[in-house]
Amino acid sequence: MAPLPCQGIALQSKFSIAFNHIPQYRKTMAKKSASEAPTHTPMMQQYLALKADHQDKLVFYRMGDFYELFYDDAIKAARLLDITLTTRGASAGEPIKMCGIPFHSLEPYLAKLVKLGESVAICEQVGDPATSKGPVERKVMRVITPGTLTDAALLDDKQENRLLAIRMVRGKMGMAWLSLASGDFALMDTDVEKLPSELERLRPAEILISDEAELTLFDQLRIPVRRVASWQFDAASAERNLTRHFAVHDLAGFGLSSNNREPLLALGAAGALLEYVRSTQGGALPALAGLRVESHSQYIELDAATRRNLEITETIRGEAAPTLFSLLDNCATGMGSRLLAQWLHHPLRNHGKILERQSAIGTLLDVGSSENLYTQLREIADIERIVSRIALKSARPRDLASLRDSLRVLPDLAAQMPDGGLFSGLAHAMQAEPTIYQLLAAAILPEPGVLIREGGVIADGYSSDLDELRAIQNNCGEFLTMLESRERERTGIATLRVEYNRVAGFFIEVTNSYVGQVPDDYRRRQTMKNAERYITPELKQFEEKALSANERALALEKQLYESVLDALQSYLATLRLTAQAVATLDVLVCLAQRAQLSGYIAPQFCDDAVLNIDAGRHPVVEDQIDDFIPNSVDFHLARKLLLITGPNMGGKSTYMRQVALIALLAHVGSYVPATAAKIGRLDRIFTRIGASDDLAGGRSTFMVEMTETANILNNAGEHSLVLMDEVGRGTSTFDGLALAWSIAKALIEKNRCYTLFATHYFELTRLAQDYAQVANVHLDAVEHKDRIVFLHAVQEGPASQSYGVAVASLAGVPKEVVRGAKRKLQELEQGSFNNGLQADLFAPIFTAEPEVESHPAIELLAAVIPDQISPREALEMIYKLKELI
Ligand code: ADP
Repeated sequence: MAPLPCQGIALQSKFSIAFNHIPQYRKTMAKKSASEAPTHTPMMQQYLALKADHQDKLVFYRMGDFYELFYDDAIKAARLLDITLTTRGASAGEPIKMCGIPFHSLEPYLAKLVKLGESVAICEQVGDPATSKGPVERKVMRVITPGTLTDAALLDDKQENRLLAIRMVRGKMGMAWLSLASGDFALMDTDVEKLPSELERLRPAEILISDEAELTLFDQLRIPVRRVASWQFDAASAERNLTRHFAVHDLAGFGLSSNNREPLLALGAAGALLEYVRSTQGGALPALAGLRVESHSQYIELDAATRRNLEITETIRGEAAPTLFSLLDNCATGMGSRLLAQWLHHPLRNHGKILERQSAIGTLLDVGSSENLYTQLREIADIERIVSRIALKSARPRDLASLRDSLRVLPDLAAQMPDGGLFSGLAHAMQAEPTIYQLLAAAILPEPGVLIREGGVIADGYSSDLDELRAIQNNCGEFLTMLESRERERTGIATLRVEYNRVAGFFIEVTNSYVGQVPDDYRRRQTMKNAERYITPELKQFEEKALSANERALALEKQLYESVLDALQSYLATLRLTAQAVATLDVLVCLAQRAQLSGYIAPQFCDDAVLNIDAGRHPVVEDQIDDFIPNSVDFHLARKLLLITGPNMGGKSTYMRQVALIALLAHVGSYVPATAAKIGRLDRIFTRIGASDDLAGGRSTFMVEMTETANILNNAGEHSLVLMDEVGRGTSTFDGLALAWSIAKALIEKNRCYTLFATHYFELTRLAQDYAQVANVHLDAVEHKDRIVFLHAVQEGPASQSYGVAVASLAGVPKEVVRGAKRKLQELEQGSFNNGLQADLFAPIFTAEPEVESHPAIELLAAVIPDQISPREALEMIYKLKELI
């Protein structure tokens, strides 16, 4: 962030001046609890009373041109914002800590605090300082919390900002989430154990939980968690509130019916959420776009680890690029970008819906209209967010101007779209009521001012009263010139001037040498060194009219602006549909452009148990290197687990991820990087890739690995796609091998899912002999002199060697170490061959009937025919055997 205007300087604010002039302040400020408020100055009493209602927020207390923070708020804000903490008016040994920021640079400070997870209550002066006895009346006008942002300046264009409320009851969890900036509101019930994956999917900016909820679940989160009273989670009153809010008889229309089944837990969460939002919006509940009830069965399920491992919107290191989203996002609008991220995180199961999107992309490619549509989309503002600000009556003049300009180009955009399929619905939704455009075109100036309080917003001709008031101001100059020449003529004073300044107002100035010629109706207003300033009754009358015209014009503009916002309230739902249609078109155009640019094809869907990809590519890796080698995959009922072996760096992870990403893209409705793809029913994608320590969570690499594996073994079914990369690597060789073997076996026998199983345990390749559904594939490399060249092509059969030493050399491990390792490897290979170590590795696992080694005792025993020896011989034999052992 650029340095803020007041960083590092001690701020001399009006408050500090005010303090020193209040005599009783010194006596009273030592005590600061609200209960002892009577001993404080009236102003501090006011502050403490406001603060008492906003204990958990930073209170910004407006004083003239500054927002001030006091006491602990000041200490915290000074640290977080890197501004100077000052002390004023120490009293009874306890000075008052304070810091402040200039009111005009509020936004960047708010942005910084909200990013840090803080909430802020902004307290403005609402009374008139001129008529106030004691401190001017103040009120908290805005509460800003990370999850309830609507301000364009505080929001990231490309990311949804969600508030999530969670209610947990006996292992079940009800969730309600709302994006205030777009009005999207949804509910879902699920299991508590899904919490991590849901947080990864929804990425809320703030979470609400009941003050009775178990906190440990939220301990490690970097998301601010707010606790609210548990009674706010009451489902019955939430249902009543929602019914009233949407003005419906019951919630059945939203797919929520309490008659035929248990009410959703999420209803309670929705109640707490709405109450919280109401408290941040000055008591008013914003217009919500509607209510969606989601269920897991709509989407291909992706757990938290999978969302991270596939690097959908964030890399494993937490960066924004390169990811699938950063590659694909060439959307023209912020609405489009946000919808694209939403689609990528919510691949659909329903083939019909997928095909609607896919065929729309196909049509765009056939018609070749993407480029044109993209150019037009770029002219469209973030209608979705503007509409939410209109709903909250916080829309700025330029929001309305952008909305108007967008509505003007929409009919053209709709006309440019191809016909049929998804486009018919989109075109229909884009035809917003012409009244909205007409209203905005008539009411708002082409380029309005930034703030309504400064005027210059309402268009000429919209209100005759306003036009009249403006005419008075405009005619001002004309009148004054006319008056000046008339007075010069009347008095004969050629140097007479009619002027205006803010202190003296309007006046007629006459230099001292002509003062004797001044007529009787001139009244002296001000004496200067070389001149006198006068006013006449006519000029006085004009002054009153001109000055009040300006004030009245500003007040009238404000009133007219508010009436425009009021008038727009009845069109919010239509405008939201328009915004959604634009966002959908934007994403379709974006996907079509990518398909064209990178040669993607339309995948086919079927009901058979298949997952076939011909010459697939990893979309992100292929974008970053020159010669990407395509690879195929072929899963069907008789081939469900592929054991992938090959050298490190050979391309195993890339291959596995590309299969998952292609499957995911296909279910988003997108074209995919391959030459052909045929995909049957798919319900979940699981990945266990790479070793990552969850140190913050107190789990070692191996623990993370096993937790993720347990999740897969417990949940993957025959329609799931599972990626297992190097499972068992985090522990000792034997442990790891034994686990990897047993896990692979369970995946084949029990889960029966489509599995890509990359392993460095060469021993596992034997599984293909035991199970018909298992096939070995490998990635190869060739050694060239003492270097290694990776071929990156997936081939049938197991790999022949692991190339570990060669890769170490490639990585720059010193030559003598590499040479040493080669020698040791030879030794080990010889040794293991001679003493049967290799055989031992398999023996406990794979050999159903272990071969018994030869031994003299055994040989002796084998030679005995029990029926032919006497009891005495038998006894001797026992002594003999005992000796041999
Ligand atoms: P492994 O998992 O076998 O250690 P990776 O999948 O991490 O290997 O691949 C290592 C590197 O090889 C990648 O970063 C990429 O640059 C390159 N690579 C992988 N697959 C291909 C491919 N199919 N074509 C070209 N380069 C590839």
